[in-house]
Amino acid sequence: MDFSLSDEERAVRDTARQFITREVMPLEQEALRRERAHQPGLDRSELRELQLKAKKFGFWGLSTPEEYGGMDLPAVMQSLIWTEIGRTFVQFRFGGEADNILYYANDEQKKEYLVPTIEGERISCFAITEPGAGSDAANIKLSARREGDDWVLNGEKTFITNGNDADFVIVVAVTDREKGVRGGGTTAFLVDRSMGWRSEFIQTMGEGGPAALVFEDVRVPHRNVLGEVGQGFELGMQWIGKGRYLIPSNALGIAERALGMAIEYANTRETFGRKIGDNQAIQWMIADSEVELEAARWLILRAAWTVDQGWDPRHASSMAKLYGATMVNDVVDRVMQIHGGMGYTRELPIERWYRQVRLMRIYEGTDEMQRLIISRDLLRGYTKIGGHLA
Ligand SMILES: Cc1cc2nc3c(=O)[nH]c(=O)nc-3n(C[C@H](O)[C@H](O)[C@H](O)COP(=O)(O)OP(=O)(O)OC[C@H]3O[C@@H](n4cnc5c(N)ncnc54)[C@H](O)[C@@H]3O)c2cc1C
Repeated sequence: MDFSLSDEERAVRDTARQFITREVMPLEQEALRRERAHQPGLDRSELRELQLKAKKFGFWGLSTPEEYGGMDLPAVMQSLIWTEIGRTFVQFRFGGEADNILYYANDEQKKEYLVPTIEGERISCFAITEPGAGSDAANIKLSARREGDDWVLNGEKTFITNGNDADFVIVVAVTDREKGVRGGGTTAFLVDRSMGWRSEFIQTMGEGGPAALVFEDVRVPHRNVLGEVGQGFELGMQWIGKGRYLIPSNALGIAERALGMAIEYANTRETFGRKIGDNQAIQWMIADSEVELEAARWLILRAAWTVDQGWDPRHASSMAKLYGATMVNDVVDRVMQIHGGMGYTRELPIERWYRQVRLMRIYEGTDEMQRLIISRDLLRGYTKIGGHLA
């Protein structure tokens, strides 16, 4: 058994770390200042400029196939890079990426949607959640009715990331109520904002905010069906599947950076004439955080590795998402405790992380949904205890 990184993995990880440290972290204080003034920490043109700079470093399209100019990296490498991105709270991500399900587009659609999204000329969002259907995504109601060569969409989506900025949405709609959502009754559509949907900003405890999308008789040409009619739910689940190991990978970077800050603080802050790190209460918080962080690391890397083996990654990814999201919440909470009053201020990024990481236990499958998947796999015998080693 070998738990080390290959030379190539280490090189890619170190280059990503170098880029984040040199080019992104210096922007942190300004990002914090802007966010305190309710502005985006990084605006769209600054993000683009950074992404183009990263392209020169060799980072462009981590998951994008080479024929579209991307790196097409194995999942393990993507996971390592997302951990590095997590080390900064500036809302940065490498460019050259598109939603995984946009590759189901036909040639015409690829020119109109996929390629411009990869190039950063268009912004997409993905919408399945509705006011009455989140965890229970099979309960969606937004309908698409066929009228000649068009489909007419009516209904509402909610909590859509990028929904305020996107110029098109990949939306999952019910096209055949009789067949039901799981029986081929849903279809994914590529819908330009100019076709008539509108977005409404939703305030949250995080920075920025998702949007509600409203569809009132939005007419969409049949050529804008993504994939096949009836394939919508399946594509939706595939979209969600990707984040299940990338979200906790990102969480790992946050936890590493935050714990590093706590260790430094514990070694310098003095009370009652000695360093707070000399107290067992503080030492235990640091020890528990390190243990959970390492446990999460290996669950996450195993989930990514499972993807690279071409195996069904759902069980491993659910464990990584559940544990990674819980771990980062617990670690950031302890890091705040170790910093005392300073941890609670907006001078430091800790309260920001505290708000940011709470979302990780909710979106792209709540903790409870991950538990449901993990236990169902075991109860029904789809997976053995101990996974592929069993
Ligand atoms: C900031 C943000 C961004 C998001 N981005 C997107 C996006 O881009 N696209 C998109 O489509 N969606 C997006 N979502 C939606 C997100 O995926 C859902 O919020 C999430 O799946 C939970 O659904 P819900 O909010 O309807 O909660 P509900 O499903 O109503 O659940 C409420 C609570 O009940 C629990 N629960 C539900 N059913 C069960 C059960 N059977 N057993 C035990 N507990 C249960 C849940 O775990 C949760 O704790 C986003 C959400 C947020 C907050």
